[in-house]
Amino acid sequence: MESANSRHPARLGHPGPSVTPPSAPPIFQTTAFDVPDLTVLHQLYDGTVPGDIYTRDSNPNHTALAASIATMEHAEAGAVFASGMGAIGSIFLALTSAGDHVLVADALYGKTMQLASRMQRLGVEISSFPVSAPETISSHVRERTRFILVETVSNPLVEVADLPAIIHHAGKIPVVVDSTFTTPELIRPVELGAAIVFHSASKYLNGHGDVMLGAAAGSRALMKQLTETASVFGQNANPFESWLTQRGLRTLPLRMQQVCQTTRRLAETLSRHKNIQAVHYPLLDGHRSVNTARKLYPNGTGGILSVELRGDGFEVVNRFMQAASGIPFSPTLADARTTLSHPATTSHRFLSTDARAALGIRDTLVRISVGLEPLDQLAAELEDALNELG
Ligand SMILES: *Cc1c(COP(=O)(O)O)cnc(C)c1O
Repeated sequence: MESANSRHPARLGHPGPSVTPPSAPPIFQTTAFDVPDLTVLHQLYDGTVPGDIYTRDSNPNHTALAASIATMEHAEAGAVFASGMGAIGSIFLALTSAGDHVLVADALYGKTMQLASRMQRLGVEISSFPVSAPETISSHVRERTRFILVETVSNPLVEVADLPAIIHHAGKIPVVVDSTFTTPELIRPVELGAAIVFHSASKYLNGHGDVMLGAAAGSRALMKQLTETASVFGQNANPFESWLTQRGLRTLPLRMQQVCQTTRRLAETLSRHKNIQAVHYPLLDGHRSVNTARKLYPNGTGGILSVELRGDGFEVVNRFMQAASGIPFSPTLADARTTLSHPATTSHRFLSTDARAALGIRDTLVRISVGLEPLDQLAAELEDALNELG
């Protein structure tokens, strides 16, 4: 029965039935899903039939990506969020109440430190432990410590957390791990005993510098709790970003392998240059966590290294950036292309000079996020720029 209404363009455009499903996953770019009747609606809420109702709560692109992350992390379940900060925000909001305590590693991503200090305003106590001394954890734990937060590899000095030791010393306290720098290709924290692993999928998981997304993996119960929290606080992912990340994931093993190899060789090459004061790369002799790195990451710690230029503060950094103009200065990391950044004026600019110095972040420090370009080309570009410093 065709009424005038069924010709209205607002009701058109749904594809017809097909016996040939699309070879690549489709995007479910929709706010809501049509529910046939109340019987089905009840079954959907009970979880006895598969289906979605409203995209803030769930969407096939979210579900597929969350399942992929869980599989790759060897975890029971996964969850996706609007961004990496959406993931960590949801973890705090789901697991803590006023009066609780969270123990955090002393070196954390800048925005994560800001998030922790905002949680203090909401009555959550925060204190830190030296990530280089996991044996001190028990002396920092309080009665209401809800979780311990660490990053696999810190930014920008690439200090490697000894996850097995941290998880051991945490005892019954859940350990939450930011594995953005390392991905499940290099380490799988849940297999080692962490309660939650999470990622800024804006970085390596997507890997193409065109997405904002977060992801987590862990037990089914915890992931359900995080997904519900994300929905309540509007930290949910979006279908298109999830779809793009799913697409990026297909090449993650190849990308990580190449990036690890290039970064390692580049670190060795740069450490011999006369205009470099120091190279921070965990698998290089002399790095403070070289032993942990060799134990946990024999094939590489990802694509991040940082260098201290020989010379004076911002001035030498500026000249280097201008000389290395082929390599973009961009305050992100894990793009397909190599990027440079300057932690003192970007990720850590909200800290005082003294606070930065205490963390070991000098004004002459430049972070390099190694991309997929050939090693020889990159080494030549960087060496040429360093030579120009005189
Ligand atoms: C980028 C980043 C985040 C935040 O992720 P967004 O997707 O930018 O919100 C968290 N942790 C680490 C280690 C990061 O590099």
